[in-house]
Amino acid sequence: MSTPDPTLRPDPHPQDDLREDRALRPELLTEFIGQAEARANLRVFIESARKRGEAMDHVLFHGPPGLGKTTLAQIMARELGVNFRMTSGPVLAKAGDLAAILTNLEPRDVLFIDEIHRLNPAVEEVLYPAMEDFALDLVIGEGPAARSVRIELQPFTLIGATTRLGLLTTPLRDRFGIPTRLVYYDTPELEQIVTRGARLMGAPADEEGAREIAKRARGTPRIAGRLLRRVVDFAVVEGDGRVTAEIADRALTRLGVDKLGLDGADRRYLRLIAESYGGGPVGIETLAAALSESRDALEEVVEPYLLQQGLIARSPRGRMLTQSAFAHLGLPVPTPAAQTGLFE
Ligand code: ADP
Repeated sequence: MSTPDPTLRPDPHPQDDLREDRALRPELLTEFIGQAEARANLRVFIESARKRGEAMDHVLFHGPPGLGKTTLAQIMARELGVNFRMTSGPVLAKAGDLAAILTNLEPRDVLFIDEIHRLNPAVEEVLYPAMEDFALDLVIGEGPAARSVRIELQPFTLIGATTRLGLLTTPLRDRFGIPTRLVYYDTPELEQIVTRGARLMGAPADEEGAREIAKRARGTPRIAGRLLRRVVDFAVVEGDGRVTAEIADRALTRLGVDKLGLDGADRRYLRLIAESYGGGPVGIETLAAALSESRDALEEVVEPYLLQQGLIARSPRGRMLTQSAFAHLGLPVPTPAAQTGLFE
């Protein structure tokens, strides 16, 4: 498989908005599997805000796509018993767009801003006094007659989500009282998510079936959900409607998802470094050009999981393959003379 299959990438996809997907979304903190540390802390902050009758402090979720940032934000609004308003950095083009949303919030509401690292600087300026003092500073009129008026807002909780913490400006980052990092899920956690999803879809998974999907879901619930949906199709058409290890393996292999959960695009990335650059180091721009992918897509979507699996390493001079990557590709490890750096 040489073309990357968009449904196997962890970034959002129009299909995710289907009713079916919403049915799989956990609605309460107790139904949310994994992220134990984040969940335990959030439970305390939610409880405390509820007891005090105040808006909860602003929360920043950061971590790779598909790990449950949006889901957790929705759960928090529900647990706090307030409205959930959602927007995203690129959608808020002008300061007025954000001002309109802020002035319409009810007391203690949750405002979720996805991809908050992509806010326009003029919009971000509006956010500072809003987050700090629950106020909007508007400039009315022009030239010498211009004056600034302050509008009071209802207290609210901002929940920001980003896949790129490093791209957030320091003033914005500092205004979040509760920064929370989401981490990749382990196989037993994904197994529980798959089992629950399969049950909700009316195609029960046995233990081995759920584990086979979990192992190949790249630590990401969004991918686990998508793989499950594909496997269920096979189970219904070629099996008896139950998700078994055999059906899962057959379906996932047909889809080009290997035992580590790598798809065609991941393998192309690894093979390029192995075969054209002797295992690296090679710069990210060079890789992006050779693969016709954007640098952002490589950095946000492809590389995090390969790094986490120890298949690649980053060095100041670029990306390098590790011995496990060569082993996974079934290629011989180049001799140290052929490859500078990693194995010296
Ligand atoms: P993000 O905002 O981090 O990109 P989402 O919150 O949109 O991720 O989650 C992606 C998908 O994964 C959703 O369909 C959601 O239902 C599912 N999901 C995420 N976390 C969990 C979890 N802990 N348990 C079950 N499903 C989850």
